[in-house]
Amino acid sequence: MSITEKLTTLKKALPKQVMLVAVSKTKPVSDLMEAYNAGQRVFGENKIQEMAEKWEEMPKDIQWHMIGHVQRNKVKYMAEFVDLIHGVDSLKLLKEINKQAKKHNRVINCLLQIKIAEEDSKFGLSAEDTKSILSSEEFSELQNIKIVGLMGMATFTDDVSQVKKEFQFLKRLFDELKPQETKNCVLQTLSMGMSGDYQLAIDCGSNMVRIGSSIFGARNYD
Ligand SMILES: *Cc1c(COP(=O)(O)O)cnc(C)c1O
Repeated sequence: MSITEKLTTLKKALPKQVMLVAVSKTKPVSDLMEAYNAGQRVFGENKIQEMAEKWEEMPKDIQWHMIGHVQRNKVKYMAEFVDLIHGVDSLKLLKEINKQAKKHNRVINCLLQIKIAEEDSKFGLSAEDTKSILSSEEFSELQNIKIVGLMGMATFTDDVSQVKKEFQFLKRLFDELKPQETKNCVLQTLSMGMSGDYQLAIDCGSNMVRIGSSIFGARNYD
């Protein structure tokens, strides 16, 4: 199947309230353009440099999501255009995003990444750290960022019950924090689910899925 066919089939299968982020990391602009021409406007990348290059080259009505781990010294390269940063996992990083957003007179939307997997390799905040950030004085003073939701990555395993437990944990935290709205925190987005587990994630309450290989095919890292 072509990218267009895979994308169209996938979109038909997704419930209306679920936003599709087409994860295009490592893929050439020609692949992204095929998805664009099939109507896709939201793309996810995990390297800031690569995302910035694609942003420069491609039509300007695309929403660019940074889904990877973010190094503070690179925030400046995406502050002008990034639409949503999924992987925010510290107050320090939030402050840097705030600082760079201010330079461009923008408010940058962010998701807090929560560690739900058992693997040590995955980044993210604990539920406790999340609560302490959101209730801190320092956070409340940040005017150029807005926390619009939570993001999580489940353990890479065939054990469906394990993955389900992790998604349910994130959904419970989301529901618990959601009512506590402040000026710069209004939780609406729950970003969970990838090619291998998005159906389960949606069943568990996800409203944003990040899907790469099911649209663009397997990635080649060398
Ligand atoms: C690569 C990546 C995805 C997409 O993975 P697929 O299995 O190709 O769908 C989703 N989320 C994050 C954070 C990623 O890095």
